[in-house]
Amino acid sequence: MNYIIKGMPVEDLKSLVKEHDFPQYRATQIYHWMYQGLVFNSDLMNNLPKNLKSFLNEQCTIQTLELSKKIESEGTTKFLFKTQDSNYIESVSMFNDDRHTICLSSQVGCNVDCKFCATGKMGFKKNLTVGEIIDQLILIMSNIDRPIHNIVFMGMGEPFLNYDNVIKAADIMHDSDAFNFGSHRITISTAGILPKINRFIDDKIKYHLAISLNATEDKTRDKLMPINQKWPIMDLINAAKKYNKDRRDRVTFEYVLIDSINDSISDAHRLAKLLKNTHCKLNIIPFNEIESIYKRPSDKKINEFLNELHAIHKGFQILVRWSKGTDINAGCGQLAIQDN
Ligand code: SAH
Ligand code: SF4
Repeated sequence: MNYIIKGMPVEDLKSLVKEHDFPQYRATQIYHWMYQGLVFNSDLMNNLPKNLKSFLNEQCTIQTLELSKKIESEGTTKFLFKTQDSNYIESVSMFNDDRHTICLSSQVGCNVDCKFCATGKMGFKKNLTVGEIIDQLILIMSNIDRPIHNIVFMGMGEPFLNYDNVIKAADIMHDSDAFNFGSHRITISTAGILPKINRFIDDKIKYHLAISLNATEDKTRDKLMPINQKWPIMDLINAAKKYNKDRRDRVTFEYVLIDSINDSISDAHRLAKLLKNTHCKLNIIPFNEIESIYKRPSDKKINEFLNELHAIHKGFQILVRWSKGTDINAGCGQLAIQDN
């Protein structure tokens, strides 16, 4: 038998050890070794008896990912990981004003097909398991000896199309018996899978929600993100209002600024109007170049857009994400495995 214990909720781990005639408290010890000790090798779990170590060695998987490659540039590190079924995923560690943010993947590829995103161009390969999501965190922690302030699900894939595994992984990251990250430090970003946004709100999931808006008119968003034909802009704005009301937390809207597509002064006006009563945060992300028909606006145009927005916006906070690591294709939307 092969039990994948990395990512298993502690209650399931307790049942597993019990089934194999070990006392249940051993599960808590293993859980601590995996998520606080960051240990992959059961031989290092030095408070476990020999027969339990052998059981772990022979019948359980503790390590689901291997580090294949690490590239660094100006405080940003891009990691390439290999799964046991020989798929590759990327994750990023970046520092901004000494804040350490890590960007995790939720799927191998993505089938949402946003026209400006390198991951979208790969197509969909598979959903990551809970263990594979958590091992990205563990391998980054083992390689970069600095505390992590924020975890964002903005790497490869659409987290809400792998909803259960992403939430289970976030729960372990949040668990005080494991990594103990505050819930507000974990952000899940979605292209706008409306039924899952509603479920996220209804289930009162505590993590921070980000929605990739990227356009101010449905006809533009239909082209950039075909998913808009199913769940258009106003549905997302209304969901954000509901989240705000029910959860008393602000949604973050992301807006990738693309030259001559969604960066006009009229777009700035429509954006301010759309977000007026949502009490949201707005992250403007200047487009990172990938092989596509799209271009990044000039710095002049980016600044004009921002100045206009700053002059007229009401009731929401604006941040600009000048992605780092674009020279190593580690910026938002640049993650894809073909260049490795
Ligand atoms: N699938 C999720 C999370 C991963 S994408 C989502 O779409 O939200 C993370 C962010 O990168 C999204 O806000 C997306 O709009 C943005 N993005 C995608 N391609 C980009 C590019 N080429 N340049 C800048 N941002 C991009
Ligand atoms: Fe998928 Fe997000 Fe890229 Fe769209 S932007 S293709 S949802 S990873």
